[in-house]
Amino acid sequence: MKPYPTYTNKQINIPYLLKIGNGKTQKIGKYLFDKDMNNIALFTGYGIDELLGDKLYGGLEIQNIKILHKEIIDDISIEKITHTAFNLPPVIDAVVGIGGGKALDFAKYCAYLLKIPFISVPTSTSNDGFCSPSSSLTVDGKRKSVKSGIPYGVVIDLDIIKGCPKIFLYSGVGDMVSKITALWDWKEAFNKGFERFNDFASLLAYNSLDLLFNKHSFNVESPEFQRSLSNSLLVSGIAMEVAGTSRPASGSEHLISHALDSVCKKPKMHGIQVGVATYLCALLQKNENTEGVKTILSKTGFFEFAKGDTFAKKEFIEALKIASGIKQDYYTILSEVDSFERAVKFIETDGILKTIIK
Ligand SMILES: [Zn+2]
Repeated sequence: MKPYPTYTNKQINIPYLLKIGNGKTQKIGKYLFDKDMNNIALFTGYGIDELLGDKLYGGLEIQNIKILHKEIIDDISIEKITHTAFNLPPVIDAVVGIGGGKALDFAKYCAYLLKIPFISVPTSTSNDGFCSPSSSLTVDGKRKSVKSGIPYGVVIDLDIIKGCPKIFLYSGVGDMVSKITALWDWKEAFNKGFERFNDFASLLAYNSLDLLFNKHSFNVESPEFQRSLSNSLLVSGIAMEVAGTSRPASGSEHLISHALDSVCKKPKMHGIQVGVATYLCALLQKNENTEGVKTILSKTGFFEFAKGDTFAKKEFIEALKIASGIKQDYYTILSEVDSFERAVKFIETDGILKTIIK
């Protein structure tokens, strides 16, 4: 295996505008005004106007912020984004993305192309994409993670997060717990000489876990948990920026999730797939934090939730077969020759996995 060509950061960006709390939607106009961002392009997901239109537009109007381009995003092909970006009025000061995955990925890449600030306003905390330095786009018809920029600003209105269906919270929990196996894979890849390691990025990623799981109760519906989940996912995104690779937040468990996306007739939400795969990969790795993973996923109710919509064993095993080949020259526990066999055995014998993968 060739050494993975790690990318060394020359410059690390962090969000300069960071607002996480209640009632933040109506203040977006003020935040933009304070940063001299008076002309914006706005990209949203479906239903955003109905969900928070009054508060958002009211706040923009008071500050006289002009929306020079507004679009609801469904198509996230790289061609469409490039076309939109280079046809925006040249006087735009910032690109604002509001919604779940697609609108944020679109807006983030658009701002990256134009080298102007991106303000990320996630309406759910189902994964760490809202503050990561990459965008998940469609390239030649396939979903691909493309290098992009870390947001200039992140605004999370906890009043909106509170109203999200539970699946979004569990998906966020699954995406967070995955740091445990991702960091193990990264360290092991480094030990084997395939990767560079960045201690500070690793520290950030571990701290983002502590922030969420060692601070308070595991009640996903409590405001403290939701605030910490937002903070933790944000720090996880920044860890990737510091590392200059997605390694601190994405390892074998993410490879399995990507494989499930391509194998399953109906893939599940990113963090749900990642969470289940994290438990399996922790077992494969003989990870010293396997009990921790189990505790987090049990006590938050993640496993119970996952049991309500089980994975088809046939599809999961198909995904396992192709997972290690999803990224070339990328060492994870799945690169070990006996991992596939061991993983199938765990699926068939582990008390928890048996109830989720059927
Ligand atoms: Zn993820």
